[in-house]
Amino acid sequence: MPSENNPPPKESAGGLPVVECANCGVCCFHMGYPAYIMPRDPMTVDEINALEQQKGKKFSAKRREELQAGHPGESHWHNLPDDLKLELEAYIAGYEKPEYGQSLDTFDGPCIWLDMETRMCKHHTVRPNVCRDFETGCSECLDWRRTYADKIN
Ligand code: SF4
Ligand code: SF4
Repeated sequence: MPSENNPPPKESAGGLPVVECANCGVCCFHMGYPAYIMPRDPMTVDEINALEQQKGKKFSAKRREELQAGHPGESHWHNLPDDLKLELEAYIAGYEKPEYGQSLDTFDGPCIWLDMETRMCKHHTVRPNVCRDFETGCSECLDWRRTYADKIN
């Protein structure tokens, strides 16, 4: 994800030289908002069944185990300044998929923290794990660059 600290790219994407994240940011185009793993209380089997009914789909066995176990929340969420936490929680509560992301189920539109002018993360030092783990030049990076080739500045 966009950062001056990202490691150098490993290869180039079909005709698109991957030099650096500057002016790119397209891997943040489908995120909607920073995807922190937030604290979750353990759920009972009945609660999981009710959630399945509410969502109209069956969870995998792995997902059910995760929901039963709960999660303490990732450290970066806990370290997030209170004002940013509140702002983000309010944003997520009122979040609606933008129209331009409707064509593909997994596309939620640009992350609210992506500066569309600079293509940099506005809160890079407190970004979630999922963003820290994403490597410049990995196959997904190259895939996003191909998908959004016309949107790279
Ligand atoms: S898609 Fe790749 S090159 Fe572009 S910002 Fe993300 S990690 Fe960097
Ligand atoms: S938090 Fe920052 S790095 Fe992560 S998706 Fe949003 S803009 Fe990108």
